[in-house]
Amino acid sequence: MEFPITELLDYENSVEWILKHFHPKGTQCPNCKTSNEGAREFRHTQTSGLMVYRCRDCGAAYNLYTGTVFQGTHWTPMQVVLLMRGICKGETTRELAAELKLNYKTVLTMRHRVQANAEMEQPNTPLPDSHSETDEMFQNAGEKR
Ligand SMILES: [Zn+2]
Repeated sequence: MEFPITELLDYENSVEWILKHFHPKGTQCPNCKTSNEGAREFRHTQTSGLMVYRCRDCGAAYNLYTGTVFQGTHWTPMQVVLLMRGICKGETTRELAAELKLNYKTVLTMRHRVQANAEMEQPNTPLPDSHSETDEMFQNAGEKR
């Protein structure tokens, strides 16, 4: 049985979750690193409905996915949350693709990107004890390398 799970999740809560896990220090301009505070709300992306910010200092536009493995995709925040959850739970790509209403190849490609990033974690960056491996994986996913 497949649950219509992306429809059961709340958009704002999903955005909050992504912010917290991918951008623990808050979003910033990818160009000049100016904090998101004071950035101008510019427009919403068409498919994902994400707010696009315009940096007050340099004028660069960016959104929640900029600098993450989801940059340039049209995934909704709900799909992002569920993909990360599914990977953690060890769901198969086929199950995930059905749940997310995305095609198998799209999900597989993203799964590989997330996992490749998780494996490239830098051993010389000490993490506080409270961080679990899962937290590391999320933060690595939030830093495109
Ligand atoms: Zn800037």
